[in-house]
Amino acid sequence: MRNLDEIKGIGVNTIRDLNNLGIYNTEDLISYYPFRYEVIEKTNMSEAEDDDKVIIDGICENTPNVYHFSRKLNKMSFRLNTGMKIFNVVIFNRSFLKNNLGPSKTVTVIGKYDKKHNTITASDIKFGMLTHTVIEPIYHSSNRLNSKKISKVINKVLDNEEILDYVPSSLNEKYHFMDKDRAVNIAHNPTSKNLLKQALDKLKYEELFMFMLKMNYLKSCNDKGMGLERNVDYKLVENFINSLPFDLTNDQLKSVKDIYDDLVSSKRMNRLLQGDVGSGKTIVSFISLYINYLSGYQGALMTPTEILAIQHFNNIKKFFPNLKVGLLKGKMRVKERRELLDEIAKGEVDVIIGTHALISADVVYKSLGLVITDEQHRFGVNQRGNLKNKGITPDILYMSATPIPRTYALTLYGDMDISSIRSMPKGRKPVKTILKSNKEITDVLYMMLDELKKGHQIYVVAPLTQESENVDMENVYELEEKMKKAFGKVAKTGVLHGKMKPAEKDEIMQQFKKNEFQILISTTVIEVGVDVANATTIVIFDSYRFGLSALHQLRGRVGRNDLDGYCILISDKETKRLKVLTETNDGFKVSEEDFLLRGSGDLFGFRQSGDMSFKVADVKKDYDLLLQAKEDSNRFLNSQDYVNPINNFIRKNIEKSVNLD
Ligand code: ADP
Ligand code: MG
Repeated sequence: MRNLDEIKGIGVNTIRDLNNLGIYNTEDLISYYPFRYEVIEKTNMSEAEDDDKVIIDGICENTPNVYHFSRKLNKMSFRLNTGMKIFNVVIFNRSFLKNNLGPSKTVTVIGKYDKKHNTITASDIKFGMLTHTVIEPIYHSSNRLNSKKISKVINKVLDNEEILDYVPSSLNEKYHFMDKDRAVNIAHNPTSKNLLKQALDKLKYEELFMFMLKMNYLKSCNDKGMGLERNVDYKLVENFINSLPFDLTNDQLKSVKDIYDDLVSSKRMNRLLQGDVGSGKTIVSFISLYINYLSGYQGALMTPTEILAIQHFNNIKKFFPNLKVGLLKGKMRVKERRELLDEIAKGEVDVIIGTHALISADVVYKSLGLVITDEQHRFGVNQRGNLKNKGITPDILYMSATPIPRTYALTLYGDMDISSIRSMPKGRKPVKTILKSNKEITDVLYMMLDELKKGHQIYVVAPLTQESENVDMENVYELEEKMKKAFGKVAKTGVLHGKMKPAEKDEIMQQFKKNEFQILISTTVIEVGVDVANATTIVIFDSYRFGLSALHQLRGRVGRNDLDGYCILISDKETKRLKVLTETNDGFKVSEEDFLLRGSGDLFGFRQSGDMSFKVADVKKDYDLLLQAKEDSNRFLNSQDYVNPINNFIRKNIEKSVNLD
């Protein structure tokens, strides 16, 4: 593995652009696999329609004409004879290709067909005839670094980089997998569909195998019993529960009991608490922190955003006025921060709330006994190492509002126990979900107007393209213009998108919460967990682009009190799949359906970070492979093969990333 600046022929600007894509070294670069492939096959022009994307090859009839608009802008045109017919070809700003074109030169042209003018406006020209299928890798790109450039940079390093194969040779043989080197090469430069499939099979398996190996290893460590044994009278917990202004639901009570049992046992807790948005996970987490406090330890509650941290901070103080609770913010005055850190280190603070900063190196706890992460699927296996403080391994509770189907959970969360809150607190009104097509947009606008007139607020979610964050951002601003046109007289608008800094997003959410504007247009970055009670409606454009679970999550943003909530799904496609949402509000049912129906996309419909995001594998599509990898990795872990020196690098990788010492 080398740093990017050690690669010949790439400059500082490219390095910076690569860094922006999360690529810091040659290893990152090589594993930056295409997110899709474009298969280029010759178009049958007798069937081509106006405006179609077409691919043809043939012989140039003439020397191209070049017209220069300015120094950089130019237009080049020539005639192409396909043997069946002659077409005009136009290409912009590529006059440097002129010398390679001309009479009797063979070329392949990719572009858009203007039937009336018998012209193809080319987006690309390749030299030579199209003798076989061309498969073009498409990478997630940015506007500074396009897919082609990324491909070029990757190819610069492919040949002279050592590529380790993490699949043990016994398994490579068993499945007749190709070498890792070859698989990586083909993934970046595919030559046939068949080889590409074989290459991806190998890479997917490797990824899933290593993931499951980590899981299995982690579980074997957790089972060794390095948890804290505590002595807490359950009576005290019951007393607190009885003092609440509402009755806990049965599922909440069961979850509290599960957690209590874990905490007092010698096993290290590693539990997932799952339940729909609004099902009351937060109070369960507070009770857990209380049990932990009663046993004499400090607790940390970690949130994905600061705004959520503040919300929890204000809340917990209401329930436990006697606890000393600290809020660790990103922006704090140096003196203030130092004082807080000091109090934490001395054990004067009982509960600390904040973002990921809570487990950063400079936060030293006196006796951290419990860590809870909210609305986070889980934090990286390697971050768990950071949790060790002063020799204590705290218990861990994850909370998630995206229920995971059982089969799934058993596999992916193989190292975790699970508590589920399936029933909602009494008196919750279900959100009404309505499916509309783009043609019915006027109806939607009237429904929105009704809500605005009632003084309510609205979320609008713009289509997600995944091509690049820039495209997504443009969509958001375009939609804002439309919303302004429709509602400019009665409402103000605001936007939120993935290119904004966390602080900017927090600021926008705060303003929305304060009703400083009434329509929030965003990509799916709407901050999870943030309560804007006055927002009653969410409108999701091109909703077919999202997984059902993701849509269900978004729907959870509204209907958070006694006001009627509406979720309007706009889509011209896949309406049958989306109908599931109009029929049920139960997140568990939705996720089962999602799992059955959806072939693509990643685990939860949102792009994930950390261990849960796979580079080539798709846990849904490749579920069978995952099960296989699970079994294989477990057998491998318990075999002599695992301790065989030949596999040292595999063992090192696992133990390093899990890093429990
Ligand atoms: P979650 O974290 O699961 O999204 P919250 O814990 O924020 O849900 O709960 C939503 C709201 O419901 C909060 O205002 C909470 O105080 C309230 N709540 C929680 N449990 C109950 C219950 N058993 N009965 C009535 N209200 C409840
Ligand atoms: Mg919550």
